[in-house]
Amino acid sequence: MLVDYNSLLLALGVSASCLAVTLVGSWFSRRPDTFLLTCSAGLVPLVGGIFIYGHYVDKPHPIFAILTFILFFIGFSTIWVAGYQFRTRRLSGWRFLLGCLTGIAASVGPMLAGYDGLAFIGDNVVIGLLLLLTAREYWISRHEAPTPLYGITALYTLTAISFGLCAAVLIADGKLVLGHAPNNWAEDFSLAVCIAGMTGIGALSLALHQWRQAALHRQEAITDSLTGLLNRRALFDLHGRRTFGPSMAVIIFDIDRFKLINDQHGHAAGDFVLKLFGQELSVGLRPSDTVARLGGEEFALVLDNTLPGRAEQVAERVRDAFAARAIEVEGKSLVCTVSAGVATGTVKGIGFDDVLRAADKALYEAKRNGRNRVEVAAYLHAV
Ligand code: GH3
Ligand code: MG
Ligand code: MG
Repeated sequence: MLVDYNSLLLALGVSASCLAVTLVGSWFSRRPDTFLLTCSAGLVPLVGGIFIYGHYVDKPHPIFAILTFILFFIGFSTIWVAGYQFRTRRLSGWRFLLGCLTGIAASVGPMLAGYDGLAFIGDNVVIGLLLLLTAREYWISRHEAPTPLYGITALYTLTAISFGLCAAVLIADGKLVLGHAPNNWAEDFSLAVCIAGMTGIGALSLALHQWRQAALHRQEAITDSLTGLLNRRALFDLHGRRTFGPSMAVIIFDIDRFKLINDQHGHAAGDFVLKLFGQELSVGLRPSDTVARLGGEEFALVLDNTLPGRAEQVAERVRDAFAARAIEVEGKSLVCTVSAGVATGTVKGIGFDDVLRAADKALYEAKRNGRNRVEVAAYLHAV
């Protein structure tokens, strides 16, 4: 038995409602993704519009069509705004208004004038355009989670094409006045695509959500939460198995008398100093340089493709800049210094652990020689 048009409309309404619930459910486990809420807010008027359109199919009174158009344009414009919000994390009032006003003008206007055929052409064209604009938002963001975003873009585009086909068939028929809901193969096809699209977008939104969660966890696992720099684990993942030649160097920094800062000004002030030092360390680095917090008040800088002597210069620059900085803590001005140990790789090549150990020894020398200074590992002269 073939399913009639109204049953398909009912299926579409149900699948849109399920998608709205799914999106709200996903939002609960990741509140910053407010685009999920915006998207489900857009589905509510769409569900309303679908059910009212069902009435129009049975009883083609213009008021049902007008209500359907208004609800559809509110819904599709909101879904476009949700796509924009996914990409930029901002809402866009003018996009919403532009979508609603263009759609309502293109459909309600002709309907009020008695040209229902023209009204449905306008309705399909503007919905198709809004869906293409929505697809564009996810397409631009595709680098974030390629697989689900390619899928979402494809489904919005396919749905847009199906609305375009509905408009094309009506235009080809050339009837400006229909007296009933459009009834042709393109309408049936579009309805089927909408049901599939709705279900697919629901599933892909969940996949997208998982993808983002996993990326967030990966990021958290390699980041030091206080300074935002890479942590020790990330540093060893990046460099732990590399052999250091003469064009690679490691600098270890250790803030001087840091315990005293904690004791005299409190732990929060100590944290503030650590953050500031992290910022200082990140100034003027090249993309190939790696900066990480080793733990406590110790930081490491790994320089790749570097000329002889550059590591020492970089260490001196950081030391000098940090010592010259007046740090404001609870209305008082505080000056902190840092010591550094520099070790360069060797011609024969040396493991990361060994360079790190050499830099640590040099750092110890810097401390012994009075702090607020840079020392270079002595083994260099021997190898
Ligand atoms: P030196 O000049 O020899 O390096 O002396 P120091 O006081 O800096 O070194 P020490 O190792 O004695 O003290 C380091 C202090 O760093 C001890 C510890 O409480 C503090 N510390 C470690 N991690 C943190 C942190 O995340 N926040 C704050 N505020 N303090 C920390
Ligand atoms: Mg230390
Ligand atoms: Mg210290």
